[in-house]
Amino acid sequence: RLAPRDRLPGLPNRALIESLLDTSIERARRHGRRFAVLCLDLSRFKLITDTLGHHAGDLLLQEVASRIVVTVRASDTVGRIGTDDFAVILDEVSEAKEAEIAAQRILAAFDEPVLLMGTEHYVGASIGIALFPDHADSAQELIRSADTALYAAKRAGGKRHAFFRKELADQAHRHLALDRDLRAALARGEFQLHYQPKVSLIDQSLEGFEALLRWDKPGFGMISPGEFIPVAEDTGFIVPLGDWVLDEACRQLREWIDRGLEPVPVAVNISPRHLRQRSAEDFRRIIDRHRLSPDLVELEITEGAVMQDMDHALSVLAALKAMGIRVAVDDFGTGHSSLSYLKRLPVTTLKIDRSFVNGVPSEREDNGIVSTIIAMADMLGLDVVAEGVEKQEQANFLRHHNCTLVQGWLTGRPVPAGQAADLLAVRLRRTA
Ligand code: C2E
Ligand code: MG
Ligand code: MG
Repeated sequence: RLAPRDRLPGLPNRALIESLLDTSIERARRHGRRFAVLCLDLSRFKLITDTLGHHAGDLLLQEVASRIVVTVRASDTVGRIGTDDFAVILDEVSEAKEAEIAAQRILAAFDEPVLLMGTEHYVGASIGIALFPDHADSAQELIRSADTALYAAKRAGGKRHAFFRKELADQAHRHLALDRDLRAALARGEFQLHYQPKVSLIDQSLEGFEALLRWDKPGFGMISPGEFIPVAEDTGFIVPLGDWVLDEACRQLREWIDRGLEPVPVAVNISPRHLRQRSAEDFRRIIDRHRLSPDLVELEITEGAVMQDMDHALSVLAALKAMGIRVAVDDFGTGHSSLSYLKRLPVTTLKIDRSFVNGVPSEREDNGIVSTIIAMADMLGLDVVAEGVEKQEQANFLRHHNCTLVQGWLTGRPVPAGQAADLLAVRLRRTA
């Protein structure tokens, strides 16, 4: 009787939950009734055990379990089906709305912080819901469906619930298949980097490159990052892929230097998940491997990447800055960063998002936003780059407002490494 119970909070484990589900399925079938399965996951469990240790993790799980137990009805079953994954069987649910209310009540129990080792910790929870017989008709499939819904709730930002929908399962399958293709593509060397020039409007000189990832998929041609980066971010493949991008950009820079070309800084995009899982030393090690001066490398991050895990991001950025590695805020203006937070952010450059540059100079609002960002960057002592400059009028407006660094089709499209080397060679001749 003890074995199927979880050692820690004394809850049914996965195997027991599955057999209890079998019983619920039988009963619901006999009476033509409905019931719900909820899967719950904590957003900060790993972070807490990593920083406070496993004992704190155990205490946290106990607290979570008792908060769930007191929130649901006595007839409901609470179990633990993974490290920080809980399942709840709501046996008397006649419609979806009731399961939703129960989920909201459980989530509300996590609005209060948990006291651990004398300090308060907010442990956000997310919940996925599957209904019998609407979404699945076996124990395992019910849990899988609730898990798929949980995944969607987390992707939508967490601290919320989501119901299972067939599209979610289809999407999960597509993501898995694409993830497999991406991993194989990396092993087969199908990825390459293109380089888009950053150009000075004062004398048209080449001031840097941004490395942009391309997938040369046999039989499909060049696939742009918008089609696979979000999935790679989702599945976690972005971490090895992002490491490859930085390594490849550094390898290319080293090759250019060894050929006698005078290099310019190369910017590499770092996705939120990649930033969360790496330290400044990890990035530094890749750059050092190619014996490059750190100021030849710039990392581009979005505001969202910083906001997701502010403490970690701030410490990584500060360490990068101390190492002399440049950091740019990409797509600036599209996130939700406040001025006070921008002031604290140890970055070197702001990149004005293309969506604002697009409207210049015909849209009054965009003119205002762009000129304000330029003035703000100036005030904070940051460099500013305008993205997506396609027309001469846009360049004129930017120059007039003292933004002299641009990246866009007007001054150069992303090109393969060979053509990028030609641009470096031209530069060498001009300065000679
Ligand atoms: P981003 O970092 O903002 O890169 C700029 C994007 O704008 C690039 O699209 C570039 O080709 C495009 N672009 C540049 N100038 C113009 C212009 O004048 N007009 C228009 N219409 N477009 C312009 P791309 O290469 O498709 O990349 C899209 C996004 O994918 C990037 O946005 C970046 O967020 C992401 N990405 C690209 N490579 C990587 C990578 O290696 N790692 C990660 N994590 N993300 C990447
Ligand atoms: Mg970028
Ligand atoms: Mg951008």
